[in-house]
Amino acid sequence: ISDTVPEAPQDPLFSVTSAFYDDPSDKKIDLSIGAYRDGKGKVWVLPVVKKAAALVALDPEYTHEYLPITGLVEFTDAARKVCLGAESGAIKERRVTSLQTVSGTGALHLGALFLSKFYRPNGIDKPPTIYVSSPTWSNHPQILGLAHLPIATYRYFDAANRSLDFAGMLADIASAPPKSVILLHACAHNPTGIDPSPAQWKQLASVMAERHHFAFFDSAYQGFASGSLDRDAAAIRLFASYGFEMCIAQSFAKNCGIYGQRVGCFHFITSPALDADVQDTLTRVGSQLALLQRACISNPPVYGARVVSLILNTPELFDEWAEDLRVMSGRILHMRQQLRIRLEQLGTPGSWQHITDQIGMFSFTGLTEEQCLLMQRAHIYMPLNGRISMAGLNLENLEYFVRAMDRVVRE
Ligand code: PMP
Repeated sequence: ISDTVPEAPQDPLFSVTSAFYDDPSDKKIDLSIGAYRDGKGKVWVLPVVKKAAALVALDPEYTHEYLPITGLVEFTDAARKVCLGAESGAIKERRVTSLQTVSGTGALHLGALFLSKFYRPNGIDKPPTIYVSSPTWSNHPQILGLAHLPIATYRYFDAANRSLDFAGMLADIASAPPKSVILLHACAHNPTGIDPSPAQWKQLASVMAERHHFAFFDSAYQGFASGSLDRDAAAIRLFASYGFEMCIAQSFAKNCGIYGQRVGCFHFITSPALDADVQDTLTRVGSQLALLQRACISNPPVYGARVVSLILNTPELFDEWAEDLRVMSGRILHMRQQLRIRLEQLGTPGSWQHITDQIGMFSFTGLTEEQCLLMQRAHIYMPLNGRISMAGLNLENLEYFVRAMDRVVRE
């Protein structure tokens, strides 16, 4: 078989990162990677994660045995409360089934497989089309495609104004066939850093209710955007309060800084409006999800789930986590403000308000592909769509970055 296998295209993000590593310059800055860095540009292990890891290491009950196929129950129960809220009607009415997954990617994959196999809206006997924002996280189409879900897009980014094309988004979602699957970024949209406002989320929810669409939330940055876990879950909780049948892919990679441990969860919520026995529905759905999980990974990884579970289930650790989240989101916010101020002070041509309007880890600078390549010549590495990871900036490299950006924009 090997003689017929074509070489796969390189992931554009990884090629930028490897160019960064190959660059011997001491001025180099990596703004491509979606991982938090502290004010010195160093990887930051959250203090609360260090503490929880130490406790897990001391726990005589901790072993490396397989977890159940659906994962660590105390973790999945707590993860569900983090995203839906402890007072969630869906949780109280026991309308949620949850499985621990290989981080957010695994949760997206599991959800995509499930929809591909079982969702047959409008009597059409083939996997349903899934609508994703234009643009979206570059791995979405690959994950969804692997599950044979046809992909369509809804308008999202208004390039001219560097803002949300809400009218376009709403119109495209409204005109999708009834019962379509709509993938929504719960907060801190990647790559644009632009989210709908609370009022716009309400409009989206009512249009989706009218059209009987199915919401698939991708929650990869809860707590990272505003610093508040509750505020960042507002869209998910709003949709859940409408009684939608929906699902959520939840990642703890960024908000716990536990990227490589692959800690995530998939939640499926049934609707109270469905005229069915809820527990029977959950048993049927949960059993099929477990079967898919078994075929994909057999059992989810145990270590990271233990660490995160300890944080979520220990009130003092939970509070410390919330504080660590404020540190991360606060530093990013500060860098946004400083970046905008410096560009405005230099009189760099253009408007820079979008940098502080956007939220979360990323900023869509508006730099063109050509300008991004010029930035690379100045040892600044970013993907060619102009997205920068705000976490890669700090007070030590900001001035160098701003000067380069100013030069490139004027060229
Ligand atoms: N969704 C989005 C929008 C993301 O940006 C990411 C991480 N880059 C993920 C999901 C999944 O990440 P992970 O698999 O590391 O949890």
